[in-house]
Amino acid sequence: MARIILVDDSASARALLSARLTAAGHLVEDVATAAEAVERALAKPPNAVVTDLWMPGISGLQLCRLLRAEPTTSHVPILLVTATEERRSRFWARRAGATVYLTKAEADRLVAVLADIPTIPPPPLSASIALRGTVPERLSQLLDIALFESTIAGEVRALAQSADDIEKAFAALAALASDVIGYRWLALSIVGQPRLFVHSHAGLVEAAEREARDALGVQAPPERRQKKADTLHMLADDRAVESEWSSAPIVEEVHFGRSLLATIALGPGRRGASIDDRSFLSLLARELGGPVQMIALVAAARRLANTDSLTGLLNRRAFVEAVVAGRARMTPLSLLLLDIDHFKKVNDTRGHDAGDAVLRGVAKVLGAMGRRSDLVARWGGEEFVVALAQTSEPGARVAAERVRRAIAETDYELPNGDFMNATASIGLVTETGDAWELDEVLSRADKAMYAAKSRGRNRVEVL
Ligand code: GH3
Ligand code: MG
Ligand code: MG
Repeated sequence: MARIILVDDSASARALLSARLTAAGHLVEDVATAAEAVERALAKPPNAVVTDLWMPGISGLQLCRLLRAEPTTSHVPILLVTATEERRSRFWARRAGATVYLTKAEADRLVAVLADIPTIPPPPLSASIALRGTVPERLSQLLDIALFESTIAGEVRALAQSADDIEKAFAALAALASDVIGYRWLALSIVGQPRLFVHSHAGLVEAAEREARDALGVQAPPERRQKKADTLHMLADDRAVESEWSSAPIVEEVHFGRSLLATIALGPGRRGASIDDRSFLSLLARELGGPVQMIALVAAARRLANTDSLTGLLNRRAFVEAVVAGRARMTPLSLLLLDIDHFKKVNDTRGHDAGDAVLRGVAKVLGAMGRRSDLVARWGGEEFVVALAQTSEPGARVAAERVRRAIAETDYELPNGDFMNATASIGLVTETGDAWELDEVLSRADKAMYAAKSRGRNRVEVL
């Protein structure tokens, strides 16, 4: 025999169902409003609640949410009964935490479900939130919390659209977090990336990094000079962030499906971490999985689209895009077009794999030579292109000659363990103004390169 609270605003429906359940051997307490049901259930949790869906005042769905939110009743099975089956009601019933959703015509099924109550697994525990006051007051607190959570969740999810890299996403996340709670620092560590993101204020940078590394279990890089690249500090204004040390940091894992993507940690302010801080951080962690995954996928796709798969250099399209985008800051621009000499012979005599190995080797030489601001790409086949930023002709001649010599002096290891040498012919052009057309610059570089070929190869020609 189970103790059942039955809620229905219709006296006749209540009487009918109550008789049916009593006949089935249950102890039924029937009430006309959800408010009464809440009072009774909180005073003494029943074995189950059977409630009408549509009722004036507090609906069955709201009753459901409220009982789920209260620690005393969060485990109680709730059977939502409706006059007419409706797709949308079924959806909301499930979302509100109802155990079963039935129509009034299904009285037999209702009785059968109630007979099974002891075997119904309890619903997952909802976060215990301390609700206070009358039933309508509790409901409105619950609505406020739900609205707050869905607003924050929406903002975190929107990071996937507004930020195209993790750095921007973390900046936006820190702006959001410091709007909502006070903290000493906020930190994010992405699995598989050495970089640590820390948000704190200027006076605290060192301490915040140390505490964040401790909390997240992320080792400091061994060499201090690497520090700048390995930690990205973002500075908050003094108002947002508290400086006094208090209690231990709180840490949450960020998952996407089953895979762990990141860890987020918060160094609490002076008062220590409140329940609100904890639930806020766990809300952030819960919602952050999607955006972090999305940003990583977009970055990977972009990398793939911009990279030549054989050599790992930029491909032609990405090179054109980068040079055109960098026009203002690259002037004066020098451009080297390189073509490997007698490369067909490498393929013909040593095989295509040997040719590939030489291409990779030349790419490596080129990649290692440039400055950070230079762009190196595989133009196609056995041709490469290098854009030297802010380099006028005399400097570019020196650079081109250095490249030529480095290519010629390298021993390229082939798949079979042999080594071979290679040379390249290089065409060089320089644009002193910024009114250039890339096609035109490249066709001049091509002419210069062919001049180098016809004058004996393994040399630099300028046009
Ligand atoms: P030159 O000194 O006049 O430049 O002679 P070359 O033999 O290098 O010139 P050519 O343009 O006739 O030959 C280029 C060769 O590069 C032909 C092509 O099969 C080869 N090649 C192009 N792309 C690849 C590649 O990805 N891998 C390999 N192994 N060979 C490639
Ligand atoms: Mg060629
Ligand atoms: Mg060639």
